[in-house]
Amino acid sequence: MTETKFTPRVFSGIQPSGNLHLGNYLGALKRFVDMQQPEMETIYCMVDLHAITVWQDPKELAHSTRELCAGFIAAGLDPEMSILFNQSQVPEHSQLAWIFNCVARMGWMQRMTQWKDKAGKNQQNASLGLFAYPSLMAADILTYHATHVPVGEDQKQHLELTRDIAIKFNHDYGVDFFPITEPVIEGAATRVMSLRDGSKKMSKSDPSDMSRINMTDDADTIAKKIRKAKTDPDALPSEIDGLSERPEARNLVNIYAALSELTPEQVLAEMGGKQFGEFKPMLAELAVAKLAPISSEMARLMGEEAEIDQILAKGAEKARAIAAPILQHTYEIVGMVGAKQG
Ligand code: ATP
Ligand code: MG
Repeated sequence: MTETKFTPRVFSGIQPSGNLHLGNYLGALKRFVDMQQPEMETIYCMVDLHAITVWQDPKELAHSTRELCAGFIAAGLDPEMSILFNQSQVPEHSQLAWIFNCVARMGWMQRMTQWKDKAGKNQQNASLGLFAYPSLMAADILTYHATHVPVGEDQKQHLELTRDIAIKFNHDYGVDFFPITEPVIEGAATRVMSLRDGSKKMSKSDPSDMSRINMTDDADTIAKKIRKAKTDPDALPSEIDGLSERPEARNLVNIYAALSELTPEQVLAEMGGKQFGEFKPMLAELAVAKLAPISSEMARLMGEEAEIDQILAKGAEKARAIAAPILQHTYEIVGMVGAKQG
């Protein structure tokens, strides 16, 4: 990790928008677990305020938030080692986001590819929250002075914007207050693609359930989705260059590599020459072996709703103890009368 004057602290989040999938697991959640170490402060958030930037059924939102918390724990996050909570319960995120709304520029937001993708052709009808999403995300991170943020490839642009907001705030007020955050985008599966279309990332919000492997899918469903995944007629190459024009094949190789903790090169050295008819069942078996223990633990935890709610409440309290003085200090810098640290 890069040296800064700030104590290294890890923050990241996932939206409780349902359908937690293999891309979220390999690109984010598994990385969260890797970064959870005794000497490192790790803060992981269920970002419910981000989820409602597109309409969510209230009952489903509550269910998805608890299910996501169950997923965090089942994947290996320990509420004693990491702070786990839902965003809405720490109001400092929204309060700092307002300050950042006044720092960030319209032009910065308009350039965001997630905004363009999600708002689509009808931008006039998208929520203001969806447009301001990256500013709230910057606040999520910077209200903890987080220095390292593990995310998938698709969030790189939002992290650059977080850095721009920190730089502009520090410059506008003549301080060195917010850290310049480092994105941590690592591993073989930083961008898991849709199983139906190798040019689109796997997403919770994709209308086709066949496009993704959900963390709650059973073994038969996982096997079926992999069997039906779009591929080409050729055998797997033995060298990585052979995948450059084959996005679907590359995606399956990357998934295999990430699940087995090998590099794509190592996978191809072993699998080169195999047809998909042979490779897909091997991938399905591996995916089931890795995901089944997580999904059964998630199901068990979902039967313990009170326990989950208690973990979230405790996490919010711990998170707030860090966030509140940083927000107050920000208010003080900005010149708000009455701001008091600690
Ligand atoms: P939505 O479609 O609602 O935006 P999502 O699948 O993109 O959902 P998010 O909650 O937006 O999920 O993202 C949570 C984390 O998962 C982020 O760090 C993001 O970069 C990562 N992530 C999302 N999709 C993928 C993917 N296909 N491959 C790798 N990482 C991913
Ligand atoms: Mg997303």
